[in-house]
Amino acid sequence: MIKGIPVSKGYAIAKIYKLHKPKIDTQKSLVMDPELEIKRYHDAIHKTKLAIEKLKSKSIERFGEETSKIFDAHLMIADDPEIKTSVESMIRHEQCNLTYALQTVVDRFLRLFSDLDNEYLRERAIDLKDVSERILSHALGLETSDLSLIQDNVILVSEDITPSETTQLDTTYIKGFITEQGGMTSHSAIIARLLNLPAVAGVKDALKKLRDGDEVIIDGFSGKVLLNYDDTTRLDYEERIQKYLTHLSSLSSYIGLPSRTVDGYETKLLANIGTPKDVDLVFAHDAEGIGLFRTELLYMDKKEMPSEEEQFLAYQEVLTKMHDQKVVIRTLDIGGDKYLPYLTLEHELNPFLGNRAIRLSLSKPDIFKVQLRALLRASVYGNLHILIPMISTKEEIVSVKKIIKELKKDLDASGIPYGNYQLGIMIEVPSAVMLADALAKEVDFFSIGTNDLIQYTFAADRTNENLSSYYQPCHPVILQMISRVTQAAHDAKIPVSVCGEMASSLIQGPLLLGLGVDELSMTPSEILKMRRVLHLNSYEILCQTAQNVLKYDSEEHVLREIKKWIVLEGDS
Ligand code: PEP
Ligand code: MG
Repeated sequence: MIKGIPVSKGYAIAKIYKLHKPKIDTQKSLVMDPELEIKRYHDAIHKTKLAIEKLKSKSIERFGEETSKIFDAHLMIADDPEIKTSVESMIRHEQCNLTYALQTVVDRFLRLFSDLDNEYLRERAIDLKDVSERILSHALGLETSDLSLIQDNVILVSEDITPSETTQLDTTYIKGFITEQGGMTSHSAIIARLLNLPAVAGVKDALKKLRDGDEVIIDGFSGKVLLNYDDTTRLDYEERIQKYLTHLSSLSSYIGLPSRTVDGYETKLLANIGTPKDVDLVFAHDAEGIGLFRTELLYMDKKEMPSEEEQFLAYQEVLTKMHDQKVVIRTLDIGGDKYLPYLTLEHELNPFLGNRAIRLSLSKPDIFKVQLRALLRASVYGNLHILIPMISTKEEIVSVKKIIKELKKDLDASGIPYGNYQLGIMIEVPSAVMLADALAKEVDFFSIGTNDLIQYTFAADRTNENLSSYYQPCHPVILQMISRVTQAAHDAKIPVSVCGEMASSLIQGPLLLGLGVDELSMTPSEILKMRRVLHLNSYEILCQTAQNVLKYDSEEHVLREIKKWIVLEGDS
């Protein structure tokens, strides 16, 4: 058995099909005519761009506009002036061959990416590799693999499945992915989730350890890849596959239905997203809006601060696509475990208790104002809710409102339009819970960030595996805090949602509703499952259960009680 990161749920049993990339000779050799070599390079770029355009239209047909945007990025990489100039000058100065020059330049960029402690950027390295391999193949007149020719049930194994390859995937035969690289946010993982294919990423040396034609079992829940197994294990997995398929097909019947309990209580199930691309997932999983757009990725995916225009376009795109559905966009939440490579911050002994989120934004108003202006301008295009992270005092939100007021004045003076929007705060620090009554008078909505609220309440770093036993979402103190916040919100007649991971849990989510939370915002793939659970449960019982467990003194006791009352499986 080998193990990787489970990035897309499901199981499959099929033969290994290793994606063989064409062998490209990148040895250095001298060329007689460097200008001719540069012309070959330009021709290869031209052919590559034509090929990418074709893949893009195929991809739009299959996966929609949003997911296919990756090919716009590929077109830009193919034409990247920095790479082009470096390759051309290397060919001229060293009188060397194109394949050597391009590989050397690309390797330099890849090293730069891989040194970054940023998962998203590391994964963009895959795009650069994909495009440069295409250019090299075109320059050498080599064929690239044609996955549409596969006619057998297989599990693909590769360094990573590139965006160009994913457009050729035929799920009649391709049953899952195993990749050596990538993670939760890589393109192949997103596509696997869209296609409901099991996928395991980050499997070291998969290409060496697995042989073409060998049958394996892939478990997208645990990240296991089973190589040699007995008949009992195979039978067990066959049963699991059947059960999971039945479960999935029953889920699709919840598309378009209201998120309503058996006794008629209706809520909204919203999606958490990280980039405008994720809007595809919002639609695919029938979310009723976006409850949290973490804007950090817009900042992390750059070599410098994104401009007001870039941000405006991203927000405008999401708002326009969502029409009048709610879109909650959170302002920059940097600091703690998230940082920007181009923003030097003072070293802190306790970064989670340091200058992060709104504290950082208020200490760097120039950066904050750019984002707020972009948001105000985008508010014309949809149902915008601006969310401020990590508020711990009333003064912070008062300062934010003052800045917004000044920005609106500037926009008015310049004749730049802005529309209506709601302003809300994240309740994720214990002081904000205790201050909820006063804070509720200042804002239009609350969103509870349980991930941080739990870590700050138990004083246990959420990223420290050794302290995971302290991470107790259903501990009565957390539930009491949530209940206090919902009470304060409702007294002030403002709505309250939860956008932390608790909202994605099929047990904890319904309990949150019982505690008075109005809406849940979660990982898109959990939405239909949650809707199904709501259809099986009574709101009255959820409320009674929630009230009963508030007086307990341990999470264990709460879990025992709620498992008695919350129905997770129907008759189907
Ligand atoms: C939270 O803290 O619950 C939350 C949603 O914010 P993040 O996970 O981005 O810190
Ligand atoms: Mg948080």
